[in-house]
Amino acid sequence: MTAQVIRMAGTATAPNQIDRLGAPLFVSWQLTRDCDLACVHCCTESAPGKPMQAELSREEALRLAEEIIAEQVPYVMLCGGEPMVVPHFLELAERLGRAGVQLKIETNGQRFDEETARRLARLSLRSVQISLDADSQAVYARQRPGGSLAKAQDACRAVRAAGLPLEVTFAPTRFNIAELPAVIARARTLGAFRFNSGALMRIGNAAKNWHKLAPSEEQYRAFRATLEREAESGEGGMEISYTPFRIEDGLRGALRQPPATLLVLPNGRVKLAAALPQIVADLRHCSLADAWRDYCRAWHSPAFLALIRRAIADDAIHAKANDWQTLASSLA
Ligand code: SF4
Repeated sequence: MTAQVIRMAGTATAPNQIDRLGAPLFVSWQLTRDCDLACVHCCTESAPGKPMQAELSREEALRLAEEIIAEQVPYVMLCGGEPMVVPHFLELAERLGRAGVQLKIETNGQRFDEETARRLARLSLRSVQISLDADSQAVYARQRPGGSLAKAQDACRAVRAAGLPLEVTFAPTRFNIAELPAVIARARTLGAFRFNSGALMRIGNAAKNWHKLAPSEEQYRAFRATLEREAESGEGGMEISYTPFRIEDGLRGALRQPPATLLVLPNGRVKLAAALPQIVADLRHCSLADAWRDYCRAWHSPAFLALIRRAIADDAIHAKANDWQTLASSLA
């Protein structure tokens, strides 16, 4: 590690590993807030016909893709909202993938068909991640009103039929938590290589519906015990991933070593952390390289680090994560 000491606002802090990087190692890119579902636990508050104001146009998105390629960012996740409602989703994926950028696609699977899977299979895809929050249609529809579990499961089959790596994700609520063992078994049957879960994030719709949705501590104990048992079993070779378990655990880790990740919102703004509202850059008006520099600098701001500590101490603060504010204004 470099002995360089970064100075911000008159303070000196020790260097972070990310200070040595010229670009992020991972870009998590929300292409839209629009979605074909309106899930009761959605952290981005997505719903049909609800794109964000001033989302990046196709041309702006393709320009950002060129910057990602030029900066040699190795890994990009395309997500939303639902990325597949974006007309230029496949065009973007193909531009990035053909340039050698590793891709992960996060989708609810409602419109992911065999043709999409075949096109994606020509790219360097790390995985397609599909949300399977239940193993019965009744529970699935309670959490994802209007959603079809059969379509989500068919999407998993299309992913595997095209030879693509499949990840399944499960967001626990009081509605679905009892179906965890059945969904793990289903994910194995469907050929997933990884099953992702963890505590419900208190952001967006989940925060608004918190008292209806948040599992009790007793439910979480049983939930965790199941995850631990299934992870130890190693059955089917499927990894069970559930750490960091709570978003606060992730923030503690970020305090020790900030992630080499840029979180890009549909309007091109860059967030510092998923659980916090602070925006550090606007990719409509600055380059990816400048955004990365500002991001790295922010992790040396004692005032920002204090905000992180507050978010660790009180998860109710995460409910404001979508009320974006610039870092400068929130520190003023
Ligand atoms: S959780 Fe996913 S599928 Fe559901 S509304 Fe949000 S973005 Fe759409």
